[in-house]
Amino acid sequence: MQLKDYIATIENYPTEGIIFRDISPLMADGNAYNYAVTEIVQYARDKEIDVIVGPEARGFIVGCPVAFALGVGFAPVRKPGKLPREVISADYEKEYGTDTLTMHADSIKPGQRVLIVDDLLATGGTVKATIEMVERLGGIVVGCAFFIELDALKGREKLGDYDYKVLMHY
Ligand code: AMP
Repeated sequence: MQLKDYIATIENYPTEGIIFRDISPLMADGNAYNYAVTEIVQYARDKEIDVIVGPEARGFIVGCPVAFALGVGFAPVRKPGKLPREVISADYEKEYGTDTLTMHADSIKPGQRVLIVDDLLATGGTVKATIEMVERLGGIVVGCAFFIELDALKGREKLGDYDYKVLMHY
């Protein structure tokens, strides 16, 4: 399957100079969505994953079906003020200034094996902040998986030695 046929490219969205890679045509096609999710499920199968962690909002679209297929739980990463109970937080660099992500403090138990999933790896700031929170909660990050990597933004450098899987490169 040529998954790139299901990615829409929008220039200058959401701001001038950004080339937005939109996964919604992929999600809209049952075969393509199933194929892409199954690729990540196969990557995860032998890793003895306990929990999938995904940042809002498109990390839910990718991560929840992976968690369902593996029969494991899903822990959401959200912007501040969205999770109702005790949270931990991590700051990360954006193009201009910093931003913050949060997780419920009890969403990972010490020693749990975690796969972090998102739609797209760009600068790597989101995944780096997510790894930091998972590890502070005692989780073991055994891999990361993305539908898309924007190679020029060098997110893989932020991932260092963490194992990761990508289905499409731009
Ligand atoms: P980063 O933290 O820079 O790796 O950015 C990754 C997050 O931002 C992911 O959750 C993506 O959904 C989103 N994102 C960043 N750049 C793009 C882009 N060019 N097209 C679509 N989504 C993007």
